[in-house]
Amino acid sequence: MVGIESASQVTSWLVTGRILFLIIHVLGIACFAYIVARRMVPLLRAERDFRFDHPWLRLGRVLKFWLGQWKQPRYKLAGTLHIFIFAGFIVLAVRAFSVLIVGVSENFVMPGLAGRAGPIYDIITDYAATIVFLCMVIAVIRRLVFKPVRYAVPARYGKAHTVDAIFLLSLIAILMVADSLFAAARAAAPSQPGQSVETLAAFSLPWMLQKAFVSTSSSLSLPTLGRLYFGAYLVHELTFYFLLCYRPFGIQFHVETSLFNIYFAKLDREILKPVRWGVADEHLDQVKSFGVKTFEDFTWKHMLDFYSCADCGRCSDNCPANAVGRPLSPRFIGIKARDYAFQHYPVIGRTDISHPQNRRPTIATALVGTIYSEDEIWSCTTCGACEAECPLLVEYIDKIVDLRRGMVDDGNVPQSLQKPLKALESRGNPYGKMEKKKADWANAKDFQQTCRVKTLDHGNGADTLYFVDSITSYDDRMQSIGRATAKILSHVGENFGILGAAERDSGHEVRRFGEETLFIALRDHNVDAIKASGVRRIVTADPHAYNALKHDYRDVPPVEHISQVIANEVKAGKIKFKSLDPENENNVYTYHDPCYLGRHNQVYDDPRDVLDAIPGLKRVEMTRSRDRSFCCGGGGLMLFYEPKEDQRMGVKRVQMAAEAGANVIVTACPFCMVNIEDAIKVAGLEGKMTAVDLAELVDQQISRESQTAA
Ligand code: SF4
Ligand code: SF4
Repeated sequence: MVGIESASQVTSWLVTGRILFLIIHVLGIACFAYIVARRMVPLLRAERDFRFDHPWLRLGRVLKFWLGQWKQPRYKLAGTLHIFIFAGFIVLAVRAFSVLIVGVSENFVMPGLAGRAGPIYDIITDYAATIVFLCMVIAVIRRLVFKPVRYAVPARYGKAHTVDAIFLLSLIAILMVADSLFAAARAAAPSQPGQSVETLAAFSLPWMLQKAFVSTSSSLSLPTLGRLYFGAYLVHELTFYFLLCYRPFGIQFHVETSLFNIYFAKLDREILKPVRWGVADEHLDQVKSFGVKTFEDFTWKHMLDFYSCADCGRCSDNCPANAVGRPLSPRFIGIKARDYAFQHYPVIGRTDISHPQNRRPTIATALVGTIYSEDEIWSCTTCGACEAECPLLVEYIDKIVDLRRGMVDDGNVPQSLQKPLKALESRGNPYGKMEKKKADWANAKDFQQTCRVKTLDHGNGADTLYFVDSITSYDDRMQSIGRATAKILSHVGENFGILGAAERDSGHEVRRFGEETLFIALRDHNVDAIKASGVRRIVTADPHAYNALKHDYRDVPPVEHISQVIANEVKAGKIKFKSLDPENENNVYTYHDPCYLGRHNQVYDDPRDVLDAIPGLKRVEMTRSRDRSFCCGGGGLMLFYEPKEDQRMGVKRVQMAAEAGANVIVTACPFCMVNIEDAIKVAGLEGKMTAVDLAELVDQQISRESQTAA
């Protein structure tokens, strides 16, 4: 460097810069290593989690979700700001490293940056520092002036994190200013007479500072520039290490953990976590305690999730339970657990272990009843909106189901759910109805005149099994969906049948409710019955059954939802539609994505393609659709549970349909149908709005002329 002394050469307080900065480096790195080591303690005591498979796939996801910031643009302003900040940090990481080393070795140049690449890289970093600085200013203004609602912390969840956020944003801004200051001072120095000029990126923060230093009216002397350079360098070093060591105490810890969190994120989100990793279902009777009761019952990856949450509030912003005032906000499931970890596993001081003699030393405190309330954990519909939104791939459904497993294991089950659970155990359905009545929906005389549904037993075989499930079998209103489905299968010439009395509830809700043993019993019974039927394919009109058969069951034939079957048959020309009747011509239809068909299984286009194939049907999209669909409130045995809430989810959904200008809501799930029809009444929209299942609509609109002629 020309003009002013390097920071490593300056002598102050009787020590050279080299020694001073070496001490700062050693102390900073040692502090950081110690803090991170302490933060890892609970992870080492946590439950197992298998996340070491498919390294290339995981690396690809790191490139997409971490480096590519894939989910950030879902929130336009905040997402764009974050992308700029992240990109700036990545660019500045190399500069920060070389700047740190220059403090002890003045001639150090990063490998690859010694030649022409050096000045180009310097120009890029000048702009990066400027952009990050501006983003910090905008972020502070947003937090202080515009106060986005999703950052607010309701009183029941603790104190707002605004002060902490502003403090951290300010520290990063200081880091950028210090970085720019010493670059500007260094560049200003050679402009003294007879010395060469160092180039800074035009209109960048360092460039503007340099211009200020060398302007004719306030040209700074070389010693002053030297002091500025050294001071800025010292501030940069101290701020850098302070930030490094402060981040693991709050939300900024995600800067360090997010890469690992995304690498180890769950690859098969649709499959629920087992009760215990490494314990097969057959050996579950040897597991002493199910689910999560104490903090150490979480898996190490779930704890890493707690550390990695950036507190951006997107999960809660999209959570239907939160939207209708239920006592659940997924963001705080994570934040409360993280605060618990920080409190009970402090960086300084001893960890208060209540059971040091355990295989895994634990803190005895039960989480439900202390940091979580029972209602909070039962309020979740497992809709998956939170997980679909989180830019850091934080997982919630597994944690909530694990907490439920813990409560169920302790016999802690809401009163209203005890009866359906007993009925499921004794009768195989939550209504307690007789098994022999399971096929009654198919035995109505007028229906039998148009469609015969055979029950698959010893004498009757078929290619395809129509898996009906409990709600469609027993609920008078939903039986119409069953009949429509059977008529469609019959129309396309499918050789199909049902299991009748041999079919038990799919157990989908039971599993998500946390009753794993009952789920296994239901599943095993159904698997045996399906295998005995000899079918090669399964079709269902219930997305919950679809999800269970596809992901929770093993060794069963491939399963399709009826909307997929219809879409394929429309494409193949086997299903043709007639135009809407005159009384329906002016209807405006909207499609409501059921969570377990859409978000959990990505079936978005087939139902829409089917609707668009009906001549004359006008369809509009609700603002919240596809993977941002809003749950109707029916998942997770919610039909039998009345959570505390300000408004029903279904009512909110119906209002969204009305706002979109629709007067007919089409769905493809019997649970959605129950909730939406009910919500139409509660919202006072009877006569103005109706709901219809896709199978029912298709059955009404199928052109059967060719069949009649034949
Ligand atoms: S879990 Fe994800 S979406 Fe929710 S606040 Fe944390 S980082 Fe944001
Ligand atoms: S799964 Fe749905 S209801 Fe449950 S916390 Fe996530 S967004 Fe909320």
